[in-house]
Amino acid sequence: MTDKAHVKSEKIRCDACPVLCYIADGKSGACDRYGNHAGELVRLDPLTIISNSIESGAKAVPFMKGNSGNDWDGDLVQSNRPFITAVGAGTTYPDYKPAPFIVSQKVDDTDMVTIVTEGIFSYCGVKVKIDTDRFIGHERDIVLCQGEPVGHVMTSEYGSKMLSLGGVEHLTGGTKKEGRVTCDTLLKLCNGEAVELTVEGGACVVVQAGKAPIVNGQAEKLMRVGCGSAAIGMFASQWVQHVDEVIVVDDHITGVLSEHQAGKMLNVPPSGIKIRGRRSTPGRYFQVAQPGTGWGGTDVEDPLTILKPADKNVAWQGLRLLMVSTTGEQYAYFQLDADLEPQPVPLTEALQFSVDRIAENCEPSICSVLFMGGAGGSLRAGVTENPVKLTNSVKDALTHVSCGGANAYVWPGGGITVMADVLDMPSNSFGYVPTPALVAPIEFTMRLSDYVALGGHADHVRPIEDVILGSVRRVGRIDPEADPTAKHNYRWKKGS
Ligand code: SF4
Repeated sequence: MTDKAHVKSEKIRCDACPVLCYIADGKSGACDRYGNHAGELVRLDPLTIISNSIESGAKAVPFMKGNSGNDWDGDLVQSNRPFITAVGAGTTYPDYKPAPFIVSQKVDDTDMVTIVTEGIFSYCGVKVKIDTDRFIGHERDIVLCQGEPVGHVMTSEYGSKMLSLGGVEHLTGGTKKEGRVTCDTLLKLCNGEAVELTVEGGACVVVQAGKAPIVNGQAEKLMRVGCGSAAIGMFASQWVQHVDEVIVVDDHITGVLSEHQAGKMLNVPPSGIKIRGRRSTPGRYFQVAQPGTGWGGTDVEDPLTILKPADKNVAWQGLRLLMVSTTGEQYAYFQLDADLEPQPVPLTEALQFSVDRIAENCEPSICSVLFMGGAGGSLRAGVTENPVKLTNSVKDALTHVSCGGANAYVWPGGGITVMADVLDMPSNSFGYVPTPALVAPIEFTMRLSDYVALGGHADHVRPIEDVILGSVRRVGRIDPEADPTAKHNYRWKKGS
């Protein structure tokens, strides 16, 4: 690391990011990632190694000294084969020089190489999926944190609301405070911390990766089983013996059993029950109410408000009507009186069972946070002297990209734009620099022969045993499916 340091009086200069801090002895720089230890610039977090020998699911363990992780223990498949991540590796900004660690190891009969860098991402953000039906804001509404705009509401997905947070426009395109708060928001979310977000004109949501969202102070429990129409399809056959009509109330598609295709197939006769909203196809209605935090993500507290007067020519006294939400959390049961007005009656045992069945089929609500970044620019120069060759190699599936050892989804098209689940990465994988930008781990793994062919810094390749010294942090594999060195990640065939 001494090549990062340029001595100036007692302070040394860190050149790992454009801030170029002067750091006094015993102190750390503005990002807390680098420090001055007796005149030497050191990366303060330990380099993190993923090793299968650590119990699966363990996110962080004490350092294990004096063990390279490759000691022969009779394990033929070397399931404890370590993988070097970029967490704690440091950067080589600007990347006129090779990445901090370029390490080789033999995997089965193949010489592999992994190049690791803590990338400084100005072009990055997170995509947040919040499992809730509750209204949190309209598409395109601005999302605020500490009063600063940090992103916007995107599409609603099936049972979830999506947010896009961060991105270069917020990091660098607004005020200094906006950039700082955006960077802080991304950092916390990526490191698995809770963040309180407010949607302009919408709800206040506490978001934390892997945890239930808290919408307007209320922890969400269930993710809906499907839209109103899907719920009818799923449960129609369980309802028909016990009830004459079922309405599944949903903000997007409210379902009406007797009109729905599923009801028709089960010979449910027309009921004459009519609901408000825009009829799409038989038994499927849009816009029965406004979005809200009531039944099925609508503003409905009293389900009878979505009913029109029953058709006198079709409906009959004693008609049994079940109304239920898409999570089964709200339900009501009625019978029509002599005036064809619905009167509440206690739920029968069979209907209670079917309502419980809806809830049973709902998955727990959680928030997921995917880091998304464009790994272009000079970062690639730390890997090869001919950066476009790295991009091509990734596209050709000769190079595998991972983030902190987690599988990264590589978007089609130009550049190396990746997305990874932060919960699949070791704890505290992310850092920041006050430019402001997020610091995220990224690793490129390929055959050594391919690395040489794409103009890699072959002179800087070191065997992994030389890198795994006592000061590394070892974590267990978090996603059992993720193995950046596994052959199935590569287009080349064994022996080619
Ligand atoms: S902010 Fe951090 S990485 Fe950037 S120069 Fe200062 S200590 Fe180095």
